[in-house]
Amino acid sequence: MATGDQTAGSTRIQAASSEVVRDINRRIVLNLIRTRHPVSRADLARLCGLQRSTISLIVEQLIAENWVVEGPTGRPPRGRRPTFLRLNEERVIIGVDVRPLQTTVAVSDAHGKFTSREVIGTPPDAKAGVDAIIQCILRMMASCQGKKIEGIGISLPGRFSRSADRLVFAPNLKWGDFDIRGPIMEATGLEVELENAANACVLAAVWFDHLEESRNLVVVTVSEGIGTGIMVNGQLLRGLNGMAGEFGHVPLDPKGPLCGCGSRGCWEVFASNRAALRYYFEAGSAPDELTFLDLLSRADQGDTRAVNALETQAHYLGRGMRMIVAGLAPERIVVVGDVTRAWHRFGPVIESEVQAQVLSGGSAPRLAPSDEDGNARLRGTVALVLQKDFGVYA
Ligand SMILES: [Zn+2]
Repeated sequence: MATGDQTAGSTRIQAASSEVVRDINRRIVLNLIRTRHPVSRADLARLCGLQRSTISLIVEQLIAENWVVEGPTGRPPRGRRPTFLRLNEERVIIGVDVRPLQTTVAVSDAHGKFTSREVIGTPPDAKAGVDAIIQCILRMMASCQGKKIEGIGISLPGRFSRSADRLVFAPNLKWGDFDIRGPIMEATGLEVELENAANACVLAAVWFDHLEESRNLVVVTVSEGIGTGIMVNGQLLRGLNGMAGEFGHVPLDPKGPLCGCGSRGCWEVFASNRAALRYYFEAGSAPDELTFLDLLSRADQGDTRAVNALETQAHYLGRGMRMIVAGLAPERIVVVGDVTRAWHRFGPVIESEVQAQVLSGGSAPRLAPSDEDGNARLRGTVALVLQKDFGVYA
């Protein structure tokens, strides 16, 4: 009897694991087509070491599922002409990047290529905000006639607790305890995935910037605030209530300026774009509506006050990153935000601050600006939605 049970049990385990293997192979092939397209079946077999027959079965399945389409045919100098495979561009994702002042809604294909977008002001009130996002999404959906929309990914300037399904911490977006997902799902009939902006940028880096080899990676987003997204041993670090990564709210000086979180002297009040503007205003008069981009161009025009304000911000960025280097020892730190447009100013200062703090036995992480053009958060929302079908890193 006992033996019989054991046999039944082990058969079940075996059946489950061959299914798992099939699923993993399917995801690997799907990702190879995503990253190497156009690619032939023979290329796929060579790239992942699976047999041609196995590849053919997986590809047939992906074509039947409408994820992959065939064509065009290659023209090799001799031999059989291979048929190339690529992702079906008719399957699209709607990405929403909510920032404290403005929100972008965009349509992307599975390659993270955006085909349309709309920018709206972010209402300060949660209900009005979600309503405005819904209206914008519905307009985008109407423009996607004939395409299959996979879902909606939303990047938020705060921490989102998956268990509570609520934004639990967003000092720069005063939306409070409000259900964001429910009304959007109801109005659109689509699945909605929500994620912190910095975590979304980690996904974007791994998915679209070919950093999939980096297992320990930190993304630092610099905008109105400072966010960090952390990947440790290849996994996104979420922590209790999704709160991991709030280095921006570690106080560097308890007597410093008041922060949106209620504390004083947090890293972000010294190193965010708002901080740079404050340094500029403190040093003399300036128009109230001056933006961070204006500050960058004033610096380029030789305004020394602007140059100094940015340099102070850069020093504080580097000083804060010492916490990250000492605490997490990442291989890479990727910086996202408008500061990357002036990397010639920021890079060397941040680098020297970080280098000064590398502990003996440690080595400095590779520090680099994100190589996207301001789309990291949005591309992260695309990865967020595609994870359920493509995710091998999730
Ligand atoms: Zn704070």
